[in-house]
Amino acid sequence: MDSQAGLHILYPRAEIDSAVKRLASEITRDYHDKNPLLIGILKGSFMFLADLVRQLDFPLEIEFVRLSSYGSGQQTSGKVKVVQGLRTAVRGRHALVVEDIVDTGITVAFFMDYLKRKKAASSRLCALTDKPSRRRVPVEIDYTGLTVPDKFLVGYGLDCDEMYRNLPDICYLEE
Ligand code: 5GP
Ligand code: MG
Repeated sequence: MDSQAGLHILYPRAEIDSAVKRLASEITRDYHDKNPLLIGILKGSFMFLADLVRQLDFPLEIEFVRLSSYGSGQQTSGKVKVVQGLRTAVRGRHALVVEDIVDTGITVAFFMDYLKRKKAASSRLCALTDKPSRRRVPVEIDYTGLTVPDKFLVGYGLDCDEMYRNLPDICYLEE
């Protein structure tokens, strides 16, 4: 990865693994008897969700939504679009949203509000990475993996114009 120009490792796979393990034990403690509905926000969370649920040894269900607040490139549009909505009723369910990164907070703030309006029994947020320096709307993250600096991250599910999602490490692109 370091061999490609402009791409540097921020968190190597081993550090991501221990963060995922820690999150899994916190989530197990809180959800082992609740049959939660885990909702991954596509596309960025696919790799994190896949690794996380392999560490969860209790009954649960998995759903995906596709939201989009970014156009192309690295700039947020400030607006959230539901590109693909939920196909499972959340009413009365314990919903746990699984997100790759909370940046401005606009995407998850929108979606957590949506879950409340749909009358989930509870709704919490698990984010692999948190970039607090960029926050524009307040967001409560119930389970945080790694706090990251204000850099544009790629890898481990995160993209830049759909590239780099397959990298096993969390990397940043040098400007
Ligand atoms: P927010 O709404 O919090 O600004 O960001 C929502 C989405 O923007 C994230 O789920 C993610 O898809 C994308 N995003 C934010 N920061 C980054 C970043 O550093 N790298 C990549 N690849 N995507 C990001
Ligand atoms: Mg995302």
